Amino acid sequence: MTVALAGSEHRVFWLDDAPGESYRQLEGSHTADLTVVGGGYCGLWTAVLAKRRDPGARVVLLEAETIGWAASGRNGGFVEASLTHGEENGRSRWPDEYDTLARLGSANLDAMERDLVELGIHAELERTGVLSVAYEPHQVRWLEEMSEGELLDERAVQAEISSPIYRAGRWVKEDSALVHPARLAHGLALAAAKLGVEVHEHSAVTSLRSVRRGTVDVRTARGLVRSKQVALATNVFRPLLRRTRLMTVPVYDYVLMTEPLSDAQMAEIGWQHRQGVGDLANQFHYSRLTRDNRILYGGYDAIYHPGRKVRPSTRTGTSRSGAWPRTS
Ligand SMILES: Cc1cc2nc3c(=O)[nH]c(=O)nc-3n(C[C@H](O)[C@H](O)[C@H](O)COP(=O)(O)OP(=O)(O)OC[C@H]3O[C@@H](n4cnc5c(N)ncnc54)[C@H](O)[C@@H]3O)c2cc1C
Repeated sequence: MTVALAGSEHRVFWLDDAPGESYRQLEGSHTADLTVVGGGYCGLWTAVLAKRRDPGARVVLLEAETIGWAASGRNGGFVEASLTHGEENGRSRWPDEYDTLARLGSANLDAMERDLVELGIHAELERTGVLSVAYEPHQVRWLEEMSEGELLDERAVQAEISSPIYRAGRWVKEDSALVHPARLAHGLALAAAKLGVEVHEHSAVTSLRSVRRGTVDVRTARGLVRSKQVALATNVFRPLLRRTRLMTVPVYDYVLMTEPLSDAQMAEIGWQHRQGVGDLANQFHYSRLTRDNRILYGGYDAIYHPGRKVRPSTRTGTSRSGAWPRTS
């Protein structure tokens, strides 16, 4: 560890900053129309949408640890409308469909913002846009070739954020937002529970078994849900279906959070418009401000542990239980 990082702590700022509610463990036998496995964004939003579509449906959500403890509670908080990881990638792969994909992505971001209002979720959403920055001459050319947003030359980009290594920037204001990731996850869980979703933490699903046509037994250590439908939202964790195991490749990305910057430090840097920032490298770096003016830096690393391992020893910080998944 370098001297600059000597005083740092291996903790998850977002989760410390916004602890969520607790939900009790699943015990005993139950029935459900839908069981959702996984309490990250994917599982939580699935449960919310299912309840909205059919308020009378019995929806159970089972989370192995605590809501949002994994990627959903510890990410950069960049919410991008793009469904194609950017315009250039999208146009090169789906030239005929790109305009439709871009339209759907923007509609999706708008709907998400509406959902936060309707569901009463205070996720510190800021629609400040994303500033893509170039450090190298060839990256300046890439920015010039893009069509979305506003192109900033060296002087203009450094007027936004006073970094001597920025040579140009492109600020796309419309199609992105920043959120507090843990507040989003915890807010979604609360909204789901208010809609009537039965949320359980410390309830790792250990097996799925078809009992008869149209019914699946979802088992945890201390409970069972006999369910008409199951939605799997387990992200990089060991898939419950054998056939998807080879398609699941866990890759670690890390972020670093500074202390809050003083007013003098903020004045020196600028960053008055609080944009999310990303560079143009293949394994890109990104940074953003928090509400209390810390800087989050992330990206570049994409670390794979052989054997698709996801272990407590390779992660930063722990959840409230801290023991799952087991290291076997
Ligand atoms: C450092 C970092 C920065 C990132 N930055 C961004 C960003 O700025 N913008 C962006 O769009 N994306 C970002 N991402 C990616 C984003 O966070 C994830 O794509 C997203 O959170 C995935 O949500 P999820 O619900 O699929 O998975 P997770 O949040 O991983 O949730 C899966 C859940 O399933 C549970 N689970 C697994 N197996 C079982 C089981 N058998 N039984 C019960 N529960 C189970 C887990 O405990 C976990 O809580 C980042 C990720 C990281 C790690």
